[in-house]
Amino acid sequence: MPGILYVVATPIGNLEDMSYRAVRILTEVELIACEDTRQTRKLLEHYGIRTATVSYHEHNEARRTPELLDRLLGGASLALVSDAGMPLVSDPGFLLVRAAIEQGLRVVPIPGPSAAIAALAASGLPTEPFYFAGFLPAKPTPRRRVLEQLASLGCTLVFYEAPHRIRDTLADLEAVLAGRPVVLARELTKMHEEFLRGTASSIRAELEARGTVKGEMTLLIGPPAGAPQSPPDVASIRERVRELERAGLTRMEAIKAVARAEGLPKREVYRIVESR
Ligand code: SAM
Repeated sequence: MPGILYVVATPIGNLEDMSYRAVRILTEVELIACEDTRQTRKLLEHYGIRTATVSYHEHNEARRTPELLDRLLGGASLALVSDAGMPLVSDPGFLLVRAAIEQGLRVVPIPGPSAAIAALAASGLPTEPFYFAGFLPAKPTPRRRVLEQLASLGCTLVFYEAPHRIRDTLADLEAVLAGRPVVLARELTKMHEEFLRGTASSIRAELEARGTVKGEMTLLIGPPAGAPQSPPDVASIRERVRELERAGLTRMEAIKAVARAEGLPKREVYRIVESR
């Protein structure tokens, strides 16, 4: 029987965020493919895990993918980890996951910390919809172009950013997305975790006043005030209410359930259902 590819999340700064299941899987697999074996070794040592490791990073993933596929097809179960957080989220792993799926292999996520989701959940900004854009381009012109394109989305935007670029990025935000609420989530899960909430200019002023800016950071931009929400999909709302009625719910119970799932007021779903 072929092996299973486990995609395992690891802590983003606080070792206590490692799940019991992640520890068990890393202990049980034959091999762990790591973005940086030395970095992962520290984690494995902390948990007394002795599993063999192999490097899997952006410079060798094309070469390494067929080797790992052979191991999986030969019956070995493998784990994929990155330096921190969820692999594939601005981290290597996509080639291997896609190739494993193409071969009909099982790919099993072992969920856990990811900076984007942790930052979003505690940001206080609307969480649905949100758009995760990873890292912005390092050069000013393409960076502004990307921000201009994203501005029209009108939803919460989530980026990863490096400390040496944060002030320039905030300056671009002032120019392109002026007035929108901004949250800078820094050093999440670590001793000096903090959330700076304000606008691009107020946060930039705060960082200027501090002089040096250090640490890992995730940047979030809220939707513009009064941004139109995407209109509800009337046909699908009616169909889901009908389905729940067929399943035995009363119309009002079905309306309530669909309203809750859609984040819509009950009276709005009622209006949609009754106006057919
Ligand atoms: N795969 C990881 C995840 O799921 O969060 C992200 C990897 S990406 C290469 C690393 C970037 O994530 C950092 O440069 C920073 O922008 C963000 N990040 C990672 N750890 C963080 C933390 N503890 N606090 C805030 N942002 C963090």
